[in-house]
Amino acid sequence: MSLPWSTIERQLRRLLPARAVVARRQELLTYDSDGLTLHRHEPPLAVLPETTEQVAAILRCCHALGVPFVARGSGTGLSGGAVAEQEALLVVTSRMRSVLAIDLDNQRITVQPGVINSWVTRAVAGDGFYYAPDPSSQVVCSIGGNVAENAGGVHCLKYGVTSNHVLELEVVLPDGTLTRLGGPLAELPGLDLRGVFIGSEGTLGIATAITLRLLPQTPNVQVLLADFVTMEAAGEAVRRVTAAGVLPAGMEIMDNFTINAVDDLFGVEEYPRDAAAVLLIELDGQAREVAAAVALASDLCREAGARSIRQAEQEADRAQLWKGRKSAFAAVGRITPTYYVQDGVVPRSALPSVLAAIEQLSRHYGLPVANVFHAGDGNLHPLILYTAGEPGVQERVQALGAEILRLCIEAGGSITGEHGVGADKRCYLDWMFSHDDLDTMQLVRRAFDPLGRANPGKIFPTPRSCGESSRRVAVLRETPAHNGAAATLPPPEPKSAPWLADGQPGLLEREAVELF
Ligand SMILES: Cc1cc2nc3c(=O)[nH]c(=O)nc-3n(C[C@H](O)[C@H](O)[C@H](O)COP(=O)(O)OP(=O)(O)OC[C@H]3O[C@@H](n4cnc5c(N)ncnc54)[C@H](O)[C@@H]3O)c2cc1C
Repeated sequence: MSLPWSTIERQLRRLLPARAVVARRQELLTYDSDGLTLHRHEPPLAVLPETTEQVAAILRCCHALGVPFVARGSGTGLSGGAVAEQEALLVVTSRMRSVLAIDLDNQRITVQPGVINSWVTRAVAGDGFYYAPDPSSQVVCSIGGNVAENAGGVHCLKYGVTSNHVLELEVVLPDGTLTRLGGPLAELPGLDLRGVFIGSEGTLGIATAITLRLLPQTPNVQVLLADFVTMEAAGEAVRRVTAAGVLPAGMEIMDNFTINAVDDLFGVEEYPRDAAAVLLIELDGQAREVAAAVALASDLCREAGARSIRQAEQEADRAQLWKGRKSAFAAVGRITPTYYVQDGVVPRSALPSVLAAIEQLSRHYGLPVANVFHAGDGNLHPLILYTAGEPGVQERVQALGAEILRLCIEAGGSITGEHGVGADKRCYLDWMFSHDDLDTMQLVRRAFDPLGRANPGKIFPTPRSCGESSRRVAVLRETPAHNGAAATLPPPEPKSAPWLADGQPGLLEREAVELF
């Protein structure tokens, strides 16, 4: 049954300034997808609050009228999380962009959720501080979105992901009440509810103020660029560097496709175009420590088969090398504007074999795959390139994406490293967790949101949205190869990972179907 959106709009207009309510279709289209354009759903109504009080008033109104809601920051998410795919009010935080307090003595800053990630560093850089988590989307994504996705980035290898840098959260719960999670100090007694909220993808409430840790700027930084004729050799270099006890600030790999896309984008030969892979290693710390780490990492890369090693000592050179890596998605997007980004994790030692298997899958499905990834964390970002509108292509793209995630699990990894589960990967969560695990997660969720109104339908698999997801991929794998070649894939081994789900849907999962 459809919700009475005109009544809901009238009620919200009474609570909010006129400019805070968006009801015109042309404007609502802005919000019909996030960064993953494969999933599109136009919201029925959107609101753009400016204060915590307005967010609380909106959620009290939703609670009274039985309206589900979806929080949205900058909409750069890559798992369909900020999209109102069911009838739900979109609560957009892009007008909540104030820095509320800076406390340099205690190395912390409090911001509204719509503040852009890179603005945090900008606010304190003049005083010698910075905010460490640096997603490649950092010039556009919001801190609220980073908290909800527990975002990672190039420097998270050494410094940790978002959850390591959030001290306190002010949250409006789904019934409109205000609460605080965590506190001004890093270590507090009791259950870590702050940690529960971080990475909960908008399913527990809306964060309205966030206190972040600031770090002093590192005195010395050097970046190495090593190039390899095989991806295996690049993976081996990563293994050798970490096994030797060197902890780089960041360690990233781009494959040949991505190298050429980036060089084309900037019109310069920044990376060797004929390399199978380039490895970027950033080392930071005290001068002598950095010099020793640079020498050791260079030797280890050479031993692993690096063809050449370039060292960027000047800030401008370093920025140039990272600019290419951070623009990789945009560069690939210039070649084909429609691509599907996956986000799986594998143990570092499995990188070469999993990348080889991805190449095999790419050929089987007749879809090119570009690889760019946080190598130090084993966090893969295969970009599946496709032509929109081609008959059946969407199903093939999603099937290939699912197979890649299956590979990651079979290698002992995970279906997401940093982009979250959202709508895109909810059907694969039961490949990793048992029904008891999922029921326990749902119980935690219900403690915050007893009626399941916050970001409904996201994260958790339901029979309605997924059917039997494990069987779905097995069936697709049996279909003939797209390019007419005989299917050469090995049969799936769904039980090779210890945590693969078995048995009947759990109690809360069944309840979820009724609610959502
Ligand atoms: C080119 C590109 C590069 C990227 N690189 C990286 C990367 O290196 N690392 C990485 O981790 N991610 C990366 N991402 C993904 C994305 O930028 C991150 O997930 C980011 O954290 C999303 O922030 P956002 O403001 O756009 O959130 P949105 O997309 O608007 O929302 C994401 C989720 O957060 C929830 N949410 C938003 N605000 C709030 C709030 N205030 N309270 C509660 N829930 C909220 C939404 O409901 C949704 O579930 C990249 C994306 C792109 C397009």
